[in-house]
Amino acid sequence: MAIMPVVKMDNPVLHQKAKKVRKIDGSIQKLIDDMIDTMHDIEGVGLAAPQVGVPLQVVVIQMPDEEDVITLINPEIVKTSEESEEMTEGCLSLPGYRGDVKRFTSITVKARDREGKPIRIKGEGLMAQALQHEVDHVNGIVFVDHLESMDKLEKTEAEDEEESGSI
Ligand SMILES: [Zn+2]
Repeated sequence: MAIMPVVKMDNPVLHQKAKKVRKIDGSIQKLIDDMIDTMHDIEGVGLAAPQVGVPLQVVVIQMPDEEDVITLINPEIVKTSEESEEMTEGCLSLPGYRGDVKRFTSITVKARDREGKPIRIKGEGLMAQALQHEVDHVNGIVFVDHLESMDKLEKTEAEDEEESGSI
């Protein structure tokens, strides 16, 4: 078990497009395991490799109360709903803040799983939000980039930090 430090918003790795994984070898398996350990340690809903300082297109997501971790390698959005809605969002790389971001209510992502098998995941609600947040991360986009200005960021109270800083 290895917990990796989560990089903060001022780190350039969060603002550049991550590289596609060409070969899913032992080092990628170890990265996935360490990312899952890290996500569990900080009680996050999802984590993208750039958030642990690794510029590769790898994402792990686990919905609250779900046992299964979804691993997405080289994820790409293939379909979105017409509707979108403002959703309150935070990021593990910006603890203590949240903002309202417009997200599609439903979304389909294609990727490879950790065995390299092509998969498609359709998500709605929190899952759709997490998928968009994490696919953004591997493309060098963070949620504050979607805000009109940094003034739209809200400071969260200490007691609901866990809830708000979860992706
Ligand atoms: Zn994030």
